[in-house]
Amino acid sequence: MRNTLLLILLASATQSLYASEPMPRISDGPYIDVHDTRLQVNWICDDRVSRETMEFSSQTTTTVQKCGLDATVHHINFEEHAIQFTGVKKIAALSDLHGQFELMRTLLRNNRIINEQNQWAFGDGHFVITGDIFDRGDKVTEILWFIYDLEQQAERAGGKLHLLLGNHEVMVMNGDLRYLHPKYVKTQQLLEKPFEQLFTKQTILGRWLRAKPVLVKINHYLFAHGGFHPSLATDKLTLERINSTFKSNLVEKELDQNRNGLGLYLHKTHGPIWYRGYFKDDGATSQEIDLLLSHFDVNHLVVGHTSQKQIETRYQGKVIAIDSSIKNGKYGEILFIENNKHTRGTLKGERHEL
Ligand code: ZN
Repeated sequence: MRNTLLLILLASATQSLYASEPMPRISDGPYIDVHDTRLQVNWICDDRVSRETMEFSSQTTTTVQKCGLDATVHHINFEEHAIQFTGVKKIAALSDLHGQFELMRTLLRNNRIINEQNQWAFGDGHFVITGDIFDRGDKVTEILWFIYDLEQQAERAGGKLHLLLGNHEVMVMNGDLRYLHPKYVKTQQLLEKPFEQLFTKQTILGRWLRAKPVLVKINHYLFAHGGFHPSLATDKLTLERINSTFKSNLVEKELDQNRNGLGLYLHKTHGPIWYRGYFKDDGATSQEIDLLLSHFDVNHLVVGHTSQKQIETRYQGKVIAIDSSIKNGKYGEILFIENNKHTRGTLKGERHEL
């Protein structure tokens, strides 16, 4: 009953969005449900839904393909991602992709993170994406499967890909769908499921996302989507505690009790996926930034979430802002850290010192 009502609401929402123009046809997917070792692969091709079931074997990788969309399945179960790394020779980072698949690939190709065949080319380097793949744009599924596959390629080359959770990942997983592109409003209508149910624990992408951390420390650089409120340092919280408390409160519907205490704090405006205090006149002071750096034993904080025209620094270079407004679909940059030198790679692949 509740589902029927929801679908009626979804249908009317879609109609009003397209009221003045004919509703465009969509292709989307795959969305893959896991039942033990059996996979149910769901696609939308030109508005038509198709489903197929197949056996998954952990010994081989399986590529599924339909109407120009594809996904390579390596794993269906995932271990929690580690959050501290040392001795890394080169690091690249970007943020806030928001469904801009083509722009992302152009940026990665021109900066040699991937080659002309769109395969990992960053060797033993570490590539960090500080969240917000979801919402606004219309190629979210494509980015998710691309990153899922690239992560495996990086691993095989001795490198690493770190995808961190942003507020839009957490919003979608919690059913806050305010920023969905109209295409995905239609996806949920055609698949007869609210969008968040395409990313449950019974799905490959849902399981994969649930294993992602909210922060990562590489050498003396600390990454998160929004940032770290100074109170985390004054309260002497460790990175492990912040990450594990955040993660154990990830999806409200899956909790035995409502978020409270630190778990609630970390999921609200001062938490690591929402905080904007490095970009406000009344935000963190220089002393507070120094306190954060010394408490977490890092030299730099690297954050996305608050959009800039290009990669920029604050607090005499101690904070690096990497949300270069890729969401607008026109331009974007990628940060490089090599031998303590910071450069920004432009969309064309030029390098400028920060
Ligand atoms: Zn954000």
